[in-house]
Amino acid sequence: MAKKEFQAESKRLLDLMIHSIYTHHEIFLRELISNASDATDKLYYNAMQEGKTGVTRDSLPIHISIDKDARKLTVSDHGCGMTAEELEENLGTIARSGSLAFKQQMDASEDVDIIGQFGVGFYAAFMVAKKVEVISRSEHTGEANIWVSDGADGYTISPCEKAEDGTDIILTIKDNAENENFDEYLDAYRIQSIVRKYSDYIRYPIQMEMQRSRMKEGCDPEKPEYEDYMELTTLNSMVPIWKKSKSELTDDDYHNFYKSKYYDFKDPVRHIHMSTEGAVTFNALLFIPASAPFNYYTKDFEKGLQLYSNGVLIMERCADLLPDHFNFVRGLVDTADLSLNISREMLQHDRHLKLIATNLEKKIKTELLNLLKNDREKYEEFFKAFGMQLKYGAYVEYGAHKELLQDLLMYHSSTEDKMVTFEEYVSRMKEDQKFIYYACGETAAKISLLPQMERLREKGYEVLYMTDHIDEFCVKMMRDYKEKEFKSIADGDAGLESEDEKQAVEKLSETHKDLLEQMKEALEGKVAKVQLTSRLKSHPCCLSAEGSLSLEMEKVLNAQRMGNEQEVKAERVLELNAEHPIFKKVASLSDGEKIKTYAEILYAQAQLIEGLSLEDPVAYANAVCSLLSES
Ligand code: ADP
Repeated sequence: MAKKEFQAESKRLLDLMIHSIYTHHEIFLRELISNASDATDKLYYNAMQEGKTGVTRDSLPIHISIDKDARKLTVSDHGCGMTAEELEENLGTIARSGSLAFKQQMDASEDVDIIGQFGVGFYAAFMVAKKVEVISRSEHTGEANIWVSDGADGYTISPCEKAEDGTDIILTIKDNAENENFDEYLDAYRIQSIVRKYSDYIRYPIQMEMQRSRMKEGCDPEKPEYEDYMELTTLNSMVPIWKKSKSELTDDDYHNFYKSKYYDFKDPVRHIHMSTEGAVTFNALLFIPASAPFNYYTKDFEKGLQLYSNGVLIMERCADLLPDHFNFVRGLVDTADLSLNISREMLQHDRHLKLIATNLEKKIKTELLNLLKNDREKYEEFFKAFGMQLKYGAYVEYGAHKELLQDLLMYHSSTEDKMVTFEEYVSRMKEDQKFIYYACGETAAKISLLPQMERLREKGYEVLYMTDHIDEFCVKMMRDYKEKEFKSIADGDAGLESEDEKQAVEKLSETHKDLLEQMKEALEGKVAKVQLTSRLKSHPCCLSAEGSLSLEMEKVLNAQRMGNEQEVKAERVLELNAEHPIFKKVASLSDGEKIKTYAEILYAQAQLIEGLSLEDPVAYANAVCSLLSES
């Protein structure tokens, strides 16, 4: 029987396991039990669907046994088992969903913490075992096979005998090393405590022969004599965690459950445990992760909650239970109102499912608001990971989810120098302030340098800094918050000038009408207008946009342009500071060519300040140099 090599990725993973310095070796057992439970779920589900009688969860225990002398630890299940092909496919290669992420992480570094991050399943056995044997009989074929590997040089698969369907995983535990004690995994009490810690909620009995002690029959109670005996003991409570009452559970219980079930290495920022009765009856256990999974912002990411019908898993990722704006939520729903045999198509239209989804959406919002109120730091951690999704949610469908989401959004504030909400902003608006001001740019630091910011600073108005691509689209879609309109500081009509100032500018514009016209002509095809403004202080010029497309939106849309799509262009307005010496200088010029050069330089500077790139930087540099070299 020829030895087969592991597939390359699997081999690297195995090497990591074998030489693991990871401190939580004990999780290998959680992984094996969880596989055993999944396999039993499959068999149980089939049996239920076929209407087999006599099959109960209690009749399908997961059995653990220890042979100290042979250094063997065995985990057996009565699950669906595997055929020879399945053994090959499942255990010879990494096929799990996280494998891609895993691969990327491995390429990035040899950091062993990936074990904690992704939960590497079956291979975790090699952290504690020098040899692993898998004896499996498939419920479909009735044939049994044995897979054997000592890790390093591959594995073999050969036919064998097995009396019942299911799988035995036999580990030969490593010998103790200098600073590692592997004997503990041959100690029944240690095994019992690991099972209780990680696998208590598993819904099949996890059983083991435990040594007990009792008074010898017939002995004198005054001089009691004891004898040892073995008793088959169920180690887990079998109550799924979501069916337990909240008072029984600690944060640790929830966190352990979350981390082992959803392969996260960080505690969630929040867990939501609800049970509802009435129009629809269900239990739900939801988690809000602290960071986004590696594929979150890609099209590979699938949203959804696990759906159970009376404790039986009927769907691994039920997308209809979560709206897109809360797609980051992980967890499960268990209800008796859905039949076990419901098809995917029927499910989509099911009234109960819709009711549950509505309930969950409300609850998630409430809990996020609570988090925001009571644990700001955690909320900000959450918002860093998923804020973009909330903003996107407020934008799509023409702002249909605005009411639901607006209070969950946060932006960096110019006056507070931290993240703030719209509610906080509005609560401290100045008496004469009409708008909620925002400014767009690459970073908060760059925005704070924008010429238009000076005016707002002088007035003491707070400005929200928007640095995500979606931001301006989102606030434009929302239009207002509590009847206060959003206004970009780049807008021509940002409402920052007094009537007097406006009149003075109008008068001045009239005086310099020809000059402004001349400058506009010099910038033919580039700007729609050249005008004077009173909203700049020390800066000579800035660029703004007329119409609905802002400069920021122009940037975003052009960056997302595909193939030969046309570039979009905002209607640009070059605004000049009427009080600035440079404008006075231009006004004193009579040479048409010179005026053209000044117009071009000012326009180029305004573009640079806005973070736009110049079409012809060389011409700009030359123009500046020629002015500088003038005597
Ligand atoms: P995961 O469980 O995340 O898919 P594993 O590496 O733990 O990854 O297991 C790989 C696959 O091997 C499983 O998906 C399952 O199909 C199969 N498998 C593992 N253990 C068992 C078992 N006890 N019974 C049946 N199939 C199993």
